[in-house]
Amino acid sequence: MEDEDSFVSFNLICPECGVGNPEGSKYCLVCDRNLEETLIFLEDDSFDLEVTKKYLIEYRKNFWGTRRTGKVMKYSWDKMVNVQFGSPVNRFIFLYASKKVVLPLREENMHTMKKLFKEYELQ
Ligand SMILES: [Zn+2]
Repeated sequence: MEDEDSFVSFNLICPECGVGNPEGSKYCLVCDRNLEETLIFLEDDSFDLEVTKKYLIEYRKNFWGTRRTGKVMKYSWDKMVNVQFGSPVNRFIFLYASKKVVLPLREENMHTMKKLFKEYELQ
């Protein structure tokens, strides 16, 4: 018998391995990664982005955006300066260790990032 309460959705994507976990999981079923520190996880064209309270983590993807290259960039929020949202083209721009970092974001991801900034006052 099926009843609605027993329905579990696997919507919580593990930033580390990309596997869907049940909503509210503390650890990834597959790789054991702690999922509680992840504020948001975004899939974009050339990278996946994970936001925690301390870091912005970029998981680079190949040219076609079909898989990850294995290159991971980890940016600490408190070391970022001049953070801005570009327009009309959606970009997330900041200076990190004196280098300019530009992340082109999909419309919906840009929206999520802006919301997150307001919510957590990351800057
Ligand atoms: Zn995982």
